[in-house]
Amino acid sequence: MESTSQDKLENQLIDLCQKYLNDRELARVKRAIEFSKKSHAGALRKSGESFVSHPLHAAIRLAKLKLDTNSIIAALLHDTLEDTDVSPRIIKREFGGDVLKLVEAVTKLSNIRIKKSWFPLGKTTVSKIPEFERQVETLRKMLVAVAKDIRVILIKLADKIHNLETLNFLPAEKRERIAREVIEIYAPVAGRLGMGEWKEKLEDLAFPYVFPKEYDDLKKLAIPRLKDRENYLKRIVSKVEKLLETNKIKAEINFRAKHWYSLYKKLLKYDNDLDKIYDLIAVRIIVDSIEDCYNTLGLIHSRWRPLVGRIKDYIALPKPNGYQSIHTTVFCEEGKIVEFQIRTKQMHQQAEFGVAAHWIYSEKKNSRIPNKNETKWLNDFSKIQKAVTSPEDFIKFLKLDLFQDRIFVFTPQGDVKDLPAGATPLDFAYHVHTDIGNHCAGAKVNGKIAPFDTKLQNGDIVEIIKGKNVKPKADWLSIVKTEVARSNIKKAIKSNL
Ligand code: MN
Repeated sequence: MESTSQDKLENQLIDLCQKYLNDRELARVKRAIEFSKKSHAGALRKSGESFVSHPLHAAIRLAKLKLDTNSIIAALLHDTLEDTDVSPRIIKREFGGDVLKLVEAVTKLSNIRIKKSWFPLGKTTVSKIPEFERQVETLRKMLVAVAKDIRVILIKLADKIHNLETLNFLPAEKRERIAREVIEIYAPVAGRLGMGEWKEKLEDLAFPYVFPKEYDDLKKLAIPRLKDRENYLKRIVSKVEKLLETNKIKAEINFRAKHWYSLYKKLLKYDNDLDKIYDLIAVRIIVDSIEDCYNTLGLIHSRWRPLVGRIKDYIALPKPNGYQSIHTTVFCEEGKIVEFQIRTKQMHQQAEFGVAAHWIYSEKKNSRIPNKNETKWLNDFSKIQKAVTSPEDFIKFLKLDLFQDRIFVFTPQGDVKDLPAGATPLDFAYHVHTDIGNHCAGAKVNGKIAPFDTKLQNGDIVEIIKGKNVKPKADWLSIVKTEVARSNIKKAIKSNL
């Protein structure tokens, strides 16, 4: 039984890859499947499935986005460094340096953890507590900084989605932490990359584990209403279809319920009153051109009266993550309120897949609508995106260094410290506490003793060994990079002499 379901996954992956990879690349993917199977042989997931089903699921998700061969291979190998005796050297020899870099970066990301102590009020979301929101935002930045390459983030997100899909097999406490991390860190990062579909998937999978009661209540409240709405909207859709047909506009029209977690957040803002949620189910109209978007808007407004202040033109003014669409809310048949979202196919791809939309529609690579800008710390991202004209360029641009002048390192307890690039263990020590700096006898970086002048790297775990009788030395001044460390060393030397 087990091997059949695994065979199915393998075939699914190969079928997907066959659609867009050449024979040579496909052969590499097949080799990686065998390699992954061999490396994880005998290991089981908590679900009882063979372990290799997990990397296969992740790789399949990426192949659906037509990601490049090395990303698919790295997804297949993403847990080998951590969980098996496969060495970096072997990965490099078998699959090359690019794959190794991807796998190593994905492995490093598993250190990004949120801490229980950040949630002193239990269920509250961190955004309500500025101090915790800051820490979580640092973790999001760190995720991007450690990843260095957007493909790494995509592999990690695909990994997370499958982890969430099998989360019920893990112990309760672990479930909540993992789901929390997704809600607070991974889903927001997916959102900033414009990957609406993955963001919603991540949130809806994590939601019941983080807020079980709220999730149940919400479903009880909303499901009867959704059924009514669907029946009503079926009638509306056929009316809109006729309206557009008469006016010679080709369109795909469908409707989709707001996903659970965003409905939950919206209801919190609107006193739990479903009547105030106009986009509980929005009608989506997908047309061929921007001109058709505005024509469609005109036709809808001439048929039904729009609500004041509810027309949003994200085509002329895209959202920071590149989202484009026109939204309008009207008094529809029987006086009921309906939200319409009008966009082109391309805008739709962009809304669902963000950065990855490039791969899916790579045959039309130059016709993409460039993003205006990403959120502040993803600014460079859109600038480069505009300049990208070939797939090679695109891969190059994905290797971003958004935080060239900062590095993010961990304390052994998992707290993140944000330091200037080039910072050393001594800078780290003074950053944690003056006293720790002043009694710094030695340092371990990633578990190994490291000299004081070691340049710390993103994602390093730094541990300071304290010595009671240690005093700051004058030559430390030539090692440290930060002003905090320098001034404290000077002060200590002066007072000790
Ligand atoms: Mn994994």
